[in-house]
Amino acid sequence: MNPWIAKTVILVGTVVIIVIRAPHGRRSRSVKVARSHETPLETLLLVLAWVGFFVPLIWVVSPAFSFAEYQLYGGPLVAGLTCLAIGLWLFFRSHADLGTNWSVTLELREEHRLVSQGVYRAIRHPMYSALTLYAVGQALVIPNWVAGFSNLIALAVLFALRLGAEEKMMAEQFGDAYASYSARTKRFVPGIW
Ligand code: SAH
Repeated sequence: MNPWIAKTVILVGTVVIIVIRAPHGRRSRSVKVARSHETPLETLLLVLAWVGFFVPLIWVVSPAFSFAEYQLYGGPLVAGLTCLAIGLWLFFRSHADLGTNWSVTLELREEHRLVSQGVYRAIRHPMYSALTLYAVGQALVIPNWVAGFSNLIALAVLFALRLGAEEKMMAEQFGDAYASYSARTKRFVPGIW
């Protein structure tokens, strides 16, 4: 199958992600940060995540990763499109539910509210689930070992090393409310994990 199909899908997906995030990013930045928990490790992980996000775009516009190319088949393409679509929907919903409480890093804003409604009702990290689904979609759609897996690997490292600190920060801020929210929810997959 022609890799330009995959390249078009990746470009459209990237534009949709940016269009969903941009207005929420602007709105959140207008609310002052009350307490930042950003560490040097967290900064490094964010840089890694940006690199992982941009490698697929480099693949779209240049032959830099042609040594790692393989054949694109219909099955993985359809499975990938499904993951990308569900991931983008969940990304949109989690941004809408989190509102101005969103931050790209670990920080609490003035009048930060514990969100436990909408897609946060069943899982504590729907935005990370959404981005993981999106990255799995990219891995299935991009017929290239480097560009296909860059985002997935970067996000897996970011989430694995960030999650404990994020939940600790939320527990310190919201005490019993976060403890009971944690007791009735899973992290990533409703009812399972
Ligand atoms: N881990 C969440 C949020 C990602 S954005 C998700 O995957 O959906 C990261 C920021 O969101 C953190 O710095 C924290 O301030 C905020 N946050 C995380 N969970 C929250 C919740 N349940 N309610 C309000 N803010 C939350």
